[in-house]
Amino acid sequence: MAKHKISRRDWVKTAGAAGAAAMLGGQQSDAQTPSRPRRWDRETDVLVIGAGATGFPAAIVAREAGADVIVLEAENHIGGHAICSGGNLPLGGGTSVQKKHGIEDSADLVFRDLTDWSVVQPNGFPDYRYNDREIIRAYADHCTATFEWLLAHGVTFLDKAPDNLGGSSIGNSAPREMHPVNLDYPLVQTGKPVEAQRRTTSSSGNGLMRPLEAAAKSAGVPILLQHRMKALYRDDAGSTRVIGVAAEHEGKVVNIRARKAVIIATGGSSGNVNFRRMFDPRLTEEYCGLAGMPYSNQDASGELAAMAIGASLWGAYNQTGEFGETLTKPGTLGAQYSYRNLRWMPGSPVFDKAHASGLPIGDWQNIVLVNMLGERFYDETAGQYTANSYRRVDPYTPHSYLNGKRNKYEPNDWVAAALAGIGDGHNGGGPIWAIFDADAVTREQWNPVPPNVDGERGFFFSADTLAALAKKIVMQHQRVPMPPDNLVATIARFNSFVDSGNDEDFGRPKPPYKVTRAPFYAAWATPVIHDTRAGLRINAECQVVDLNGAVIPGLYCGGESAGGFSMHGLARCMCQGFIAGRHAAAEKPAAQKHS
Ligand SMILES: Cc1cc2nc3c(=O)[nH]c(=O)nc-3n(C[C@H](O)[C@H](O)[C@H](O)COP(=O)(O)OP(=O)(O)OC[C@H]3O[C@@H](n4cnc5c(N)ncnc54)[C@H](O)[C@@H]3O)c2cc1C
Repeated sequence: MAKHKISRRDWVKTAGAAGAAAMLGGQQSDAQTPSRPRRWDRETDVLVIGAGATGFPAAIVAREAGADVIVLEAENHIGGHAICSGGNLPLGGGTSVQKKHGIEDSADLVFRDLTDWSVVQPNGFPDYRYNDREIIRAYADHCTATFEWLLAHGVTFLDKAPDNLGGSSIGNSAPREMHPVNLDYPLVQTGKPVEAQRRTTSSSGNGLMRPLEAAAKSAGVPILLQHRMKALYRDDAGSTRVIGVAAEHEGKVVNIRARKAVIIATGGSSGNVNFRRMFDPRLTEEYCGLAGMPYSNQDASGELAAMAIGASLWGAYNQTGEFGETLTKPGTLGAQYSYRNLRWMPGSPVFDKAHASGLPIGDWQNIVLVNMLGERFYDETAGQYTANSYRRVDPYTPHSYLNGKRNKYEPNDWVAAALAGIGDGHNGGGPIWAIFDADAVTREQWNPVPPNVDGERGFFFSADTLAALAKKIVMQHQRVPMPPDNLVATIARFNSFVDSGNDEDFGRPKPPYKVTRAPFYAAWATPVIHDTRAGLRINAECQVVDLNGAVIPGLYCGGESAGGFSMHGLARCMCQGFIAGRHAAAEKPAAQKHS
C-alpha cells in the first residue's frame, strides 16, 4: 500500500483546502471546495469509520448486501465503548424473545414511548421531548429486525425474559432489555475470560462485540486497525458528494476511496474538550476520566470531519439536559478512569494507559468530598442525575400531563454542585478529592497502593496529617494549592457534625464516622463524562444532512456521533448501523474521475 509522510504542505497540496483544514485541526467549512487527493491507496464500496456498536452492524449488513466494505479503526483493537459496556441492550418492538415470553410490544409502541413529551426525569428534565420524530420512527421500525439480525449473527443472549436491569431511558411500556452472554472471550477489563461456570450466565459488551467481529471477518470485511480517519474527501466539479477519506496510519497519510458511501461510526464527542464545551462550558480539562477511556476515545473526529464539509449538528438540548448517565459520580477513587461499572485491572490490554484500577466506593459515608480549596460542596451521599425506566412513572398514561405530576421530584444535584467551581472565574469545578482516614480503609477493605491507586500521576496522595496531605496535592488539574488550614478546618467541622448527628452545611444524613486516624488520604473523585447524546444531523436513512437541510450524498452516520435521539447506549447505535449499512450498500457508485 502506498503511504505518504504527513506534513502541512503535503496536506494542503494533496488533500485540498477543506480536507487539510480538518486534518490539521481546523474547523472551516466550505462545501464547495474540491478536495480529491492525487491518488487513492485503497478502494472499496462502503467505508465504515469505527469498529464499535454502530460500525460492525453497518459493515456486515453492507457486505451481505453485496458491497465491498472496509472498516477503519483508530485504536489497535476493536470494540470501542461497546466492548467495555455492560451489554444491556433494549431492542424491542415485538422481538421473537418478547413474543416467547408473552410481552406485547410493537414498533408503534416504541415510537410512542420515545416521543412522549410528558415523560420527565426525577429532576424535572424531559427525556424524550427533543427527539427527532423522523429518526425515532426509523429506529422503531428497525428495532426488531436489528435484534433478530444479531441473533442470526452469533450473539447469544441470557436465556430469560427481557427486563429492565440496565435501567435507563428505555421506554415505559414494555420490558425490552436483553443481555449478551460473555462466552469464553477474554474481557478487555481483565484480559481474562470469566470463570467457566459464568460464561453463559453473565453478560457484557464483550459477548456482543466479539461475535460481531467474527461475523465481519467471516463475511470478508477487512478491519484496518490504527487507521484514524482525519478528513473526508468530496468529489470535485462543484459536487458535495463524499468519495473517500484521509486516514492516518503510523504517522502517514492513507487515502481510501469509497465508491458508494462513507459511514461515520466514530462514537461521539465527549472526549474532545473544545467540542463538548459547545454544549456545556463547565466541562473543562479536569474531566479527564471518561467512561470507556482509555480503551477508546470519543474525540469528535467524525463530527469535525463532517462539519468541515457543511454537516449540521442536531438535537443539542439532548447533550445539555441534566439527566441519565451523561455525567456521573465516580464509582472508584484514586485513579483517572473511575466509572462505576468499569475497572481496568492489571492484565487488561490497556492497563498501561489506565495506570490504576481505582478503589471501588461502597459507602459514601466513609469519605468526605472537598473541592480544590479543601472545602465541602454537597452531601456526599446524594445521587447523581437519574434516568427513567420501565414503570418508574406509575401509573404511566402515554402523552398525559399527569405523568409529570406522578413523577417524584428528586433534584439529584451532586453533579451540578461538583461542577459549580470555586468562584475564581474558571468554568469547570476543578478536581474533587475524597478525603478519608485509616479507619475508612479498614471499613471499605481497601488496599490503597498501586495498582489500585495512581499516586505517580497525581490522582492519589497520603500523609500523616491533614495539613501535610493538603500540601502534597500537586497535579496538573489542581490549579491552585489547597490551603492546609482549609482542609484541617473542613474536617474538624465535619467531625463536629458526626458528634451532633447533624450536617448543618449540606444535610448529609447522620454522618456516622469521623476522619481522625492517620494516615490520611486524598483520592481523585471528579465526575465522569459518559454519553454523547447530540451529534450530526441525519435523516431516516442515516444520511448526514447539511446546514441547509440537504443530504450530503455518500455520507452516513449513526450511534453516538449522530444527533436527534436522546437514548442511552447500544440499541440506537446497533439499529442505526443496521439502517446505514443497508442504505449505503444500495447507493449507486460515484463515477471515477481522473485528475
Ligand atoms: C463502561 C460503559 C458501560 C456501558 N454500558 C452500556 C450498557 O449496558 N447498555 C447500553 O446500551 N450502553 C452502554 N454503554 C454505552 C455504549 O457502549 C455506547 O453508547 C456505544 O458503544 C456507542 O456506540 P458507537 O458505535 O457510537 O461508538 P463505539 O462503540 O465507542 O465505537 C466507536 C469506534 O470508533 C473508533 N473511532 C473513533 N474515531 C475514529 C476515527 N477518527 N477513525 C477511526 N476510528 C475511530 C473508536 O476507537 C471506537 O472503536 C456503556 C458505555 C460504557 C463506556
